[in-house]
Amino acid sequence: MSDSAHLLKKAIKHGEFFNLYQPLINASDKQIMGAEVLMRWQHPAEGLKNPITFIPEAEEKGFINKMTSQQLKNCYDELRPILIQNPDFIVTINISSNHLLDAKSVRELIHYKGLIPNLVLEVTEDVLVDGNDDRIQKAFIKLTAAGIDIAIDDFGTGYCGLHYLGQLPVKYLKADKCFIASIGTDSINSHVLEMIVGLSKKLNLITIAEGVETPQQVAHLDILGVEIHQGWHYNRAMPANELIHYIELTKQQVTESEEHLKVVGTVSE
Ligand code: C2E
Ligand code: CA
Ligand code: CA
Repeated sequence: MSDSAHLLKKAIKHGEFFNLYQPLINASDKQIMGAEVLMRWQHPAEGLKNPITFIPEAEEKGFINKMTSQQLKNCYDELRPILIQNPDFIVTINISSNHLLDAKSVRELIHYKGLIPNLVLEVTEDVLVDGNDDRIQKAFIKLTAAGIDIAIDDFGTGYCGLHYLGQLPVKYLKADKCFIASIGTDSINSHVLEMIVGLSKKLNLITIAEGVETPQQVAHLDILGVEIHQGWHYNRAMPANELIHYIELTKQQVTESEEHLKVVGTVSE
């Protein structure tokens, strides 16, 4: 086994991978309606590592399924207080062909759907193209039968065959960051964003904009009618305890402003 594979194996054993959660914002009231689960590695020698530095290798060396398995367990344990109060809270996780090709992973996802009612799987377009593989097709059929929803991640950047949209129970299109970054420029990407949102609406899908960083982008996405926003303009990915605290705080603020409106209303009557 190579050094890096050995390190990944050890990291799984020692529980060095952990979850951060980035809020999904309901565009209509700007409240948190869910979160994407993102992985980090607290490496004993190198410190905090971003997923881009270890996920591709974990996929290639066959460790990703075990890592996602730990991730789901942690996710359920950590988000339970939110899920008890709001079972509709959307929880999206990133999965790849490795998961779909593994019967145990598919069973596990179905098991967690029972615990996290609005569990959504984010898959990139290349995974859907692999859908020509019989086993992947069958996995999607099982997951769908269990009521699990699919989001297409990084939409617009991958293989551009759209036939799968009609064949799979896709519910969300996540427009890639590069299209959001193009807002306010007159690059081709800004037109592609309009096309993506138009397509999504035509197909009765829900659009998620990722990488939302500025108020100008928010305003433009609101004009386009994009339903869900995600990005640093709202929040960075954060640990579960911060997310729970943040949700409590915003709930309190909403209640206070409703109370305030009631008082103002009474006074002016
Ligand atoms: P992704 O699935 O497209 O995840 C979104 C990435 O965009 C995250 O990076 C997030 O922190 C970042 N991001 C969020 N808001 C903004 C913003 O406003 N501006 C910019 N520039 N970036 C923003 P992160 O956490 O470093 O993840 C990178 C990629 O690693 C993910 O891209 C995903 O492909 C993969 N990944 C992350 N966590 C997991 C995981 O648990 N499992 C698997 N299989 N892949 C994961
Ligand atoms: Ca994602
Ligand atoms: Ca993405």
